[in-house]
Amino acid sequence: MKAEIIAVGTELLLGQIVNTNAQYISQQLALVGVDVFYHTVVGDNAKRIQQTIETARDRSDLLIFTGGLGPTMDDLTKDVLAEMLGRKMTYDEPAMAKMTEMFAGRGIHMVESNKRQAHVIDGADVLQNSTGLAVGNVLQHNGTTYVLLPGPPREMKPMLDNEAIPWLQRRQVIDQSSLYTRMLKFAGIGESGLENALLDLIEQQTDTTIATYAKEGEVLVRLAVKGTDRTEAELKLDQVEREIRTRLGLHLYATEDLPLPEVLVKQLTQYGLTLSAAESCTGGMFADTITAIPGSSHVFAGGAVTYSNEMKERILGVPHELLEGEHAPGAVSEQTAKAMVEGMQDIADTDFTVAITGVAGPDHSERKPVGLVYIAIAEKGKEVVVEELRLNGDREGIRRRTVYAIMYRLWRRLQERSVHNAM
Ligand code: ATP
Ligand code: MG
Repeated sequence: MKAEIIAVGTELLLGQIVNTNAQYISQQLALVGVDVFYHTVVGDNAKRIQQTIETARDRSDLLIFTGGLGPTMDDLTKDVLAEMLGRKMTYDEPAMAKMTEMFAGRGIHMVESNKRQAHVIDGADVLQNSTGLAVGNVLQHNGTTYVLLPGPPREMKPMLDNEAIPWLQRRQVIDQSSLYTRMLKFAGIGESGLENALLDLIEQQTDTTIATYAKEGEVLVRLAVKGTDRTEAELKLDQVEREIRTRLGLHLYATEDLPLPEVLVKQLTQYGLTLSAAESCTGGMFADTITAIPGSSHVFAGGAVTYSNEMKERILGVPHELLEGEHAPGAVSEQTAKAMVEGMQDIADTDFTVAITGVAGPDHSERKPVGLVYIAIAEKGKEVVVEELRLNGDREGIRRRTVYAIMYRLWRRLQERSVHNAM
């Protein structure tokens, strides 16, 4: 099967924007085993769009369009294709309702042209737009499959990943019988750090496709190889994995799609180790994340959310002098994190105890910056370690990154244990 990506937009031809959509779509298609043979760019011009489609359908089986689904008169993709195929267009009711509601909610009058965004070509299936208004379309006609995606990357990407590719798989337009993939999951490193460390591999990739993703605080790499021979494909995947492991082994925590908390709970269970937590700015998120994993009851003893200074004193026994007073280090400090973890350890008597105190924002507190977080880890028989983190992001992001930062450090300690045990 041959695929072709057609990016529609005069801005692309003028060099005002870079065709990053074509790059993204190509990468995602490679990961599901689709060969892309052409990238085409055409301006917002009906005649030239038509000519482009005529050429493309003669040489490709799957045409993926991006751009030109918006409300304005220069957004022509659907109109031109419908006309060429001799099909009419109707409005997608749910998309219309969503649009009407959105305009009403903002108190803006909805002009007629906005309705164009809800257009569906007769016989096409609708691809939902979870981040915008213009719906996508997918249809088959005389053996050619047409997929119409919006131009804005933040709308195009989820529609491709969550709507279009699954549709193509369901309809068996995409045949994955000879595709072999592997997922590598990383912690304690961001997507850009990961990409930098693998840049030469990503650029030189030959028959193994390597792509990095960030999703909800996790980063992952997907490897894909096409081939008819499983053994040979697995060997190729092994080889790339080995290379990645030599570079990033300290961050690679799973070779399948497992979340870090799950891996951590599994390993703690294996070693028969227990865990407790004292949390301030994360408000129980650490405990929540751990206890969301089935089987965590063998591992997690419990914890305390000590949000106010008073509770830090009363429950954990954090000295008053640390928390209040002109020269006190304050609740968000190395000393308080240490006192919190020691207080919790006394109560819980678990193998590991963690403590978290920080400023999740959006406002600073104690004149300390948003994103300043102290994490403390106590391990039986070892010195308490306190670390200062400076995290970016909104409140939710800072809290989640803090939780993952601790889990990553716990995971690292368990790796050291396994090395130690093996010796
Ligand atoms: P809209 O509803 O915003 O008009 P649309 O589907 O009509 O969406 P376009 O009008 O073609 O899409 O493009 C809208 C914006 O999306 C562009 O200004 C640009 O910022 C971005 N965009 C469009 N095409 C691409 C592309 N191929 N690569 C990267 N960004 C793109
Ligand atoms: Mg537009």
